Amino acid sequence: MTQTHSDALVFLGATGDLAYKKVFPALQYLIRHGHLEVPIVGVARSGWTVEQLRARARDSLEHHGGVDESAFAELANRLRYVDGDYHDPETFVQLRQALGDAQRPLYYLAIPPSLFGTVVHHLAESGGAHDARVVVEKPFGRDLASAQELNRILHQVFEESRIFRIDHYVGKEPVLNILSFRFANRFLEPIWNRDCVAEIQITMAEQFDVQGRGAFYEEAGAIRDVIQNHMLQVMSLLTMEPPGANAPDGIRDEKVKVLRAVRPLEPADVVRGQYHGYRREKGVAADSRVETFAAVRLQIDSWRWAGVPILIRAGKALAKTATEVLVRFETPPQQSFAHHSLDCSQNYIRIRFNPEEIIAIGAVVRKEGDEEDLQPVELMAHRQAADEVPPYARLLHAAMAGDPSLFSREDTIEAQWRIVEPVLGDVTPLYFYEPGTWGPPETDQLLPDCLAWHNP
Ligand code: NDP
Repeated sequence: MTQTHSDALVFLGATGDLAYKKVFPALQYLIRHGHLEVPIVGVARSGWTVEQLRARARDSLEHHGGVDESAFAELANRLRYVDGDYHDPETFVQLRQALGDAQRPLYYLAIPPSLFGTVVHHLAESGGAHDARVVVEKPFGRDLASAQELNRILHQVFEESRIFRIDHYVGKEPVLNILSFRFANRFLEPIWNRDCVAEIQITMAEQFDVQGRGAFYEEAGAIRDVIQNHMLQVMSLLTMEPPGANAPDGIRDEKVKVLRAVRPLEPADVVRGQYHGYRREKGVAADSRVETFAAVRLQIDSWRWAGVPILIRAGKALAKTATEVLVRFETPPQQSFAHHSLDCSQNYIRIRFNPEEIIAIGAVVRKEGDEEDLQPVELMAHRQAADEVPPYARLLHAAMAGDPSLFSREDTIEAQWRIVEPVLGDVTPLYFYEPGTWGPPETDQLLPDCLAWHNP
């Protein structure tokens, strides 16, 4: 289906942290590559002028990726600024004027989630929503009920095909590469199932702590912050069925199918942790029960995956910063080399997202110079992330073009909330861990016999 391109980009929250760190670099990237040739309107309430917004854009680029003078000149030229409160209908009258002849704007809501409903309402009232698209930042709700309510509010104004729920993680090169690796190769498919796969592990480890964002983190916790969204997205890409070649929304259809086959988590499937020192962070309650680490064990009730443990860990103040997937295969059916010293299967696929991008295949070969023994090796593809398209640039470009495939559909978001809903909040024990470790030792409770955590 051919989509019409949006003819203006409005970003609300123009003076905010996300705009500073991610949006201006994405805009410059898109302009440099000739992908953004429309008016760009920033909206906030700081009492700024457009000159101040341009200065902010330059400052942002100096700190995040560098200024490309030619692209920046064009960005500065395209920038407009509307100052006003989102509760005031007059802000949206001014916004309509700033849009001039544009008839099909894209509104990017880079604003606190509590304001999504207010802004959508005023866009409709001011006549600005007609033929428009809307990009909604995360978090999309706090639980299933609030996500459903937000969907209801959005649908009062925008039909589903005009709503783009962003999870920037899905726009990252190595995450997109999961689908290429799985579905552009013939050799994987026959072994990518419960007959051959013993376990799947996903670890998203951050060595840094909450870095002064304690007040934000108190409202989130690891399950809401990264497991409900980023980690379940990665899991669905690893486990979904191949999308039909001509299915218009095939990837999203297959993602939601596998997410719906995941059993909602039970308390026994979860270990929550909090690092020592978190309660002393600014904005954190002295008796906080919020988790800075979570490990979960998922089960997918499908012919492909029944019985295969899917283990996910994510946390802050851990031993290192790295995100990695490990898909470990069963041992060979017969032990042909009686004396070897390897005690568990060395056949696996390892996919590392950061700090560098790696896809490795674990195999076993004869140990050099030793007639009896074997040794594990890795066949590896390695890429530096330097030239990667910034995820926000990729996603904004797709939304402007009306391509929804990298955005979460209503049913996907709700399926993700359904999985974590039973264990949100303080319903499971909270264990403590030392910063610089791999989380609380109790995490081992989730492991099936004979398995160990794979530390990236
Ligand atoms: P900030 O608090 O830094 O920025 C909020 C922005 O909204 C500011 O531009 C602020 O304007 C504007 N704003 C707030 N209230 C009003 C109002 N009543 N009227 C007009 N403007 C208003 O938030 P972030 O940039 O950090 O986050 C924005 C969104 O992005 C959130 O949904 C967040 O969850 C999401 N997000 C953020 C990430 C990040 O790294 N920061 C990462 C992923 C998602 P002013 O400054 O003029 O008051």
